[in-house]
Amino acid sequence: MFIAANWKMNLKKSDIKDFLYFLKKNDFSNKIKLCIFPQSIYLSYLIDLLENTSVLVGGQNCYYELSGPFTGEISPECLKDIGCNYVILGHSERRTHFKESSTHVKMCAETALKTSLTPIICVGESYEDRMNNEELNFIENQIYHSIPNIEENFYIAYEPIWSIGTGSIPTNNQIFKMHDHIKKIAFSILKKDIKVLYGGSVSPNNIDEILKVSNVDGVLIGGASLKIKDFLAIYGSVAKHVNNN
Ligand code: PEP
Repeated sequence: MFIAANWKMNLKKSDIKDFLYFLKKNDFSNKIKLCIFPQSIYLSYLIDLLENTSVLVGGQNCYYELSGPFTGEISPECLKDIGCNYVILGHSERRTHFKESSTHVKMCAETALKTSLTPIICVGESYEDRMNNEELNFIENQIYHSIPNIEENFYIAYEPIWSIGTGSIPTNNQIFKMHDHIKKIAFSILKKDIKVLYGGSVSPNNIDEILKVSNVDGVLIGGASLKIKDFLAIYGSVAKHVNNN
């Protein structure tokens, strides 16, 4: 099981220090891979604080070139250089606010893989697409254009846009159907199985229900990963789940 904590543009140095104070007291399971994605300016700070723990750190984004005249961008090579293992790509907030296309996401993912970073590629339909029963077609198209053709390791995060930060989540049937669809499309392209995370309003109240969906390989958590109490409650539920299965 994978737990990805996307802090987005939140938490200052002192907040991170407080969060880590409690996180380090947690009983970590070797069946769970935990990766935290802080703002890029605090990556090194977090990596230092997490030294000698099993907690991994990743970037919230990167560019498709390794270096050069690209002011303000983040090189995947440098993420790797400072000790990151993962990078989130194509989050719906990047696609919406910064107009990142699926082609852009794919190029970034291919470059990230060359530097041995593992991309977590986000896909997700809008409320309108779901209401028009277009969600399966939309996701299929997004995957075809966003994932690298190379047979490397990466994750896909299914994050319905209408669920991010809203408190509404799909039913277990809807999650199962979409994860199944994503895995089948990825297999048809790559000829290998891919792991799919669910993201969108994951909380201590709904995590047990989400974990009942057999093809959920992990969760990508936004808002609830900012509060240590909620985050540890979610971690505890995932730990119980992996121990019982
Ligand atoms: C996200 O933005 O990736 C996310 C899942 O956010 P939230 O958990 O707050 O819905």
